[in-house]
Amino acid sequence: MSLFTTDFKESPYWWEAAPPEPASEQDLPKQVDVAIIGSGYTGLHAAIQTAQAGRTTLVLEAEAAGFGASTRNGGQVSTSIKGSLPELTRQFGAQRAVEILREGQASLDFMKDFIPAHKIDCDFQVDGRFHGAHTPKKYDQLARSIGVNAAVFSDDAFMIPKADQATEFDTAAYHGGIVYPHHASLHPAKYHRGLLGIARRHGAEIATHCRVKSLNRTAKGFELQTPKGPVRAGRVVLATNGYTGPLSPWQQRRIIPIGSYIIATEELPSDVMDRLMPTNRILSDTRKLVYYYRPSPDRKRILFGGRVSLRETDPRRTGPKLHAELVRLFPELAQTRISHSWSGFVGYTFDTLMHAGQEDGLYYAMGYCGSGVGMASYLGMRIGQQASDNPEGMTAFNKIPFQTRPFYTGNPWFLAPSVLAYRIRDRFGI
Ligand SMILES: Cc1cc2nc3c(=O)[nH]c(=O)nc-3n(C[C@H](O)[C@H](O)[C@H](O)COP(=O)(O)OP(=O)(O)OC[C@H]3O[C@@H](n4cnc5c(N)ncnc54)[C@H](O)[C@@H]3O)c2cc1C
Repeated sequence: MSLFTTDFKESPYWWEAAPPEPASEQDLPKQVDVAIIGSGYTGLHAAIQTAQAGRTTLVLEAEAAGFGASTRNGGQVSTSIKGSLPELTRQFGAQRAVEILREGQASLDFMKDFIPAHKIDCDFQVDGRFHGAHTPKKYDQLARSIGVNAAVFSDDAFMIPKADQATEFDTAAYHGGIVYPHHASLHPAKYHRGLLGIARRHGAEIATHCRVKSLNRTAKGFELQTPKGPVRAGRVVLATNGYTGPLSPWQQRRIIPIGSYIIATEELPSDVMDRLMPTNRILSDTRKLVYYYRPSPDRKRILFGGRVSLRETDPRRTGPKLHAELVRLFPELAQTRISHSWSGFVGYTFDTLMHAGQEDGLYYAMGYCGSGVGMASYLGMRIGQQASDNPEGMTAFNKIPFQTRPFYTGNPWFLAPSVLAYRIRDRFGI
């Protein structure tokens, strides 16, 4: 039996409900106040701010609008910060650690305010996250983590022991887990479509299929070269995250592009969905190579993602590997076929934190380390404020160094050995 449905697609399931827009035909303006490179959540939220502040704003996108991670992701919305208060304190000192964690909470709060305020139709639901322990030791670690950030915010997290796990998630593969009740989910491509509408209503222009090929400083700002001709801009915001390339070598030396892979299953009977995933929570686990999954917003399919290959490869190869992991959790899905398999690039950083600021006059926000639905939205908004001279735009991520490593120029040669090492650690429960 083929693992793929007859109408299988190598494109995101999300594009069924919100397909990419056709190419824009308009001529480019010769001069704008702000040019934004990249049309994902970062770029569009930045554009909403700069346009709202009365700056003429042009978003330039190499492919279709939202082509990058912003229409491909798992739609899981969390506080996005890797690291607890004690860990961040060791790294950055007590005050900065608190500021960083507050930004994480602010990004989640921002989504809960922004989406209803703008009535974005994107299946946004606050149903929480179940994070499964893949070993008993990890369960104990999760239990000890409760309240560790309480000085900054309360996440109201609670443990689900293995004996009660079926109330959350019908698998024998985990040793219980933790629930974060305030985490949320959305339909990534519908959310992106909503942002495009808001940015345009505020007067931002979005030029798609228009890659910025070079970026040169001038006396009054920048000149950008594109296939549709040059554009002069007083300010430029770089919003390219995992798709950052040689256009901006300083940022390229600091971003580690990592492919993340997802599948959608064919439709499952509602009684099976209700038994396997009785709640609408988003799901993830304690493995170093994290798997993330969830029911589709209509609860008919399972969307299942993770890093299943050592090197970047094509989604026809990763589909069966993700399927095997899905079946390890739910053996009864062995005959369930895959309807969609796709991938996208996340932007990792050497300190596993996101960064925002200005380098040589160029504004940037990036490095969400795979947790950017809320954070790219929030930091996009903040960097847009910074580019509009609004002092509210300053963030904790402006104040920490954006590290690189000697000889790293944007090609993560170390990825395959790292993935292999993590895979071994996960297998042995280390
Ligand atoms: C498979 C996958 C699953 C994920 N799941 C989750 C999740 O469940 N929860 C979560 O919080 N995060 C998740 N993420 C991460 C999240 O999607 C990203 O952090 C977020 O979308 C980043 O948004 P962005 O706007 O910064 O970048 P992107 O959306 O990646 O946009 C960058 C854009 O820049 C464009 N670009 C690059 N160079 C140029 C140029 N020279 N000229 C013009 N345009 C250019 C690219 O074409 C691209 O469209 C996932 C990511 C992936 C790939």
